Amino acid sequence: MVIGLVLAVGESIAASHRGGRRWDQPSLVSFEKKGDREQRITLDSFLTIVIEISENADHRSISLFPQEKRMKTIRLEEMNWPDIKTAIAGGMKTVLVAVGSTEQHGPHLPTMTDALIGDVVAERVAAKLGNALVGRTISVGCSEHHLAFPGTISLKSATLKMVINDYIDSLLRSGFKKIVFVPSHGGNFAPVRDAIDEARRRHPDADITGFTDLMRFIKIFYDASAEFGISEEESGGHAGESETSIMMALRGHLIPLDRLAPGYIGPAGERELKIIFEQGMPALTQNGILGDPRKATAEKGEAYLKKLVNCLVEEIT
Ligand SMILES: [Zn+2]
Repeated sequence: MVIGLVLAVGESIAASHRGGRRWDQPSLVSFEKKGDREQRITLDSFLTIVIEISENADHRSISLFPQEKRMKTIRLEEMNWPDIKTAIAGGMKTVLVAVGSTEQHGPHLPTMTDALIGDVVAERVAAKLGNALVGRTISVGCSEHHLAFPGTISLKSATLKMVINDYIDSLLRSGFKKIVFVPSHGGNFAPVRDAIDEARRRHPDADITGFTDLMRFIKIFYDASAEFGISEEESGGHAGESETSIMMALRGHLIPLDRLAPGYIGPAGERELKIIFEQGMPALTQNGILGDPRKATAEKGEAYLKKLVNCLVEEIT
């Protein structure tokens, strides 16, 4: 198959050189010979074929790099400024920014859990919206209530608000007209809301918004878990079944399955949130978990992500 492809490419190159481009063949954009060891052929900015020639000339390996994939990224951190400028000018005037955390997530989930979930959700929401790019995720948030557990890094509420306002000023300078913040960690909802209010006063013409209803955010997970027969108490608000399922879908290899154990299992409403924010997580849970991760599966995690993405798309449009 590889040989067939190379022959097809060769034929296309030959056709390009003859000036007679075949209707069904891509045209050659560049051909680079990098020493004796590597050759790069780029066709129509669409496909790059790298031919690596080893010391032993009998052995050749060929790798394909579809340029299409690179060009289709909607993440600012993966793009260069000319492409970002073109995208904004072409109508991609909305930018989403997740506001996650770096904090303990029980004895089984990585500290990046909220940041990763926010990052993935923001990208999927932006992709569905079709006219949006994704800004660099803010991966440290307000996690003071988790500081009793090692690995947690926390910003003061005032710091996070300043960071968000600096993001807003920067992204408006880039040319975005709408900025949407997606908090994926409970402790960030209030500061994100405050920061947005402040920024709106400074930029009355800009559309600055965010999904800042924490109780609604939690309810999305509860409702999704209920469809699988999982109780609210098990689904949990932190490293329980729902968050563990999502992480199994995204980074299953980082989860030691022999550590899945129940944490605080009970009501988790306004009263419990107040206890957590004022006294810290250990006031409710010794292992750092709110919920019970033992029924978590990657399949459920993918379903929860879909649900969350759809809710946010509805909210934003
Ligand atoms: Zn979390």
